[in-house]
Amino acid sequence: MSSKAFASKGDLAEKKVSFDRLSEHAYAYTAEGDPNTGVVIGDNSVMVIDAQATPVMAQDVIRHIRTVTDKPVEHVVLTHYHAVRVLGASGYGAREVIASRDTYDLIAERGEADMKSEIERFPRLFRAVESIPGLTWPTVVFEKRLTLWLGKLQVEVMQLGRGHTKGDTIVWLPKERVLFSGDLVEYGATPYTGDAYLSDWPATLDALEALNPAALVPGRGAALATPEQVREGLNGTRAFVQEMFEHVKRGVEAGQDLRTIYRGAYDALQPKFGHWVIFDHCLPFDVTRAYDEATNHRDPRIWTAERDQAMWETLER
Ligand SMILES: [Zn+2]
Repeated sequence: MSSKAFASKGDLAEKKVSFDRLSEHAYAYTAEGDPNTGVVIGDNSVMVIDAQATPVMAQDVIRHIRTVTDKPVEHVVLTHYHAVRVLGASGYGAREVIASRDTYDLIAERGEADMKSEIERFPRLFRAVESIPGLTWPTVVFEKRLTLWLGKLQVEVMQLGRGHTKGDTIVWLPKERVLFSGDLVEYGATPYTGDAYLSDWPATLDALEALNPAALVPGRGAALATPEQVREGLNGTRAFVQEMFEHVKRGVEAGQDLRTIYRGAYDALQPKFGHWVIFDHCLPFDVTRAYDEATNHRDPRIWTAERDQAMWETLER
């Protein structure tokens, strides 16, 4: 018997949505720690950054967009491949779905397994799951950097390094200095590192910080509307990633097994980070990936619904 409900299975309370304007062209659709969607309103069209989990859930984003503009949504950018952010993409009727080459490769390699795994992990976050038409395939695949002009508005779509996944992509409005980070940065929400490159993540955060953002839309949590809040979001994410990985590496060096390391990491990190949403959900996945990276798995292993359950039984029973 597990002592805790698996992943976010016990999390059934609906969250309150906020739709905040961060600059002349940038908006954030956030929901108290549920996955965020960024919105950029150009001269003639709208860009959406991360799609939500289902086409039905995308309709709520569109409803909020329609309170400020009637321009069509022409671009959807996927910050990475995770199902809870990409499977609603068809709901926007966009002309293009944009992703990095590395994200495209991950969708091809593990998108199907990830969809099944994530639907089990987050039943509440896949409202009207039957409306998902299948995997989301990008129509534009870029390497490193893509510049788009939404009329006179310059939008940079960039891959600045690995962290949350191999394909992490950010969207940057250079003139307004607004950054959409995807899950590379979280705020008041626990970073999920089950598919991460933990050795690389801090340097990627440094690259984000070097842009000197005035505002930032994290993957989860409230929009960060000032440079001070941006710093807080970056520092909090960096602290969690580094402290969790350091703890696991010390355990590996001491010859401890995964379960012992997990229990120690939980006790060490809970006082500082346990109030962040999805802490209990993420930590078993996070420590498992950290253990793999600290031992002999340079690349994250594929999570399947079956592997999720087996891991949870090992660490939480
Ligand atoms: Zn993610």
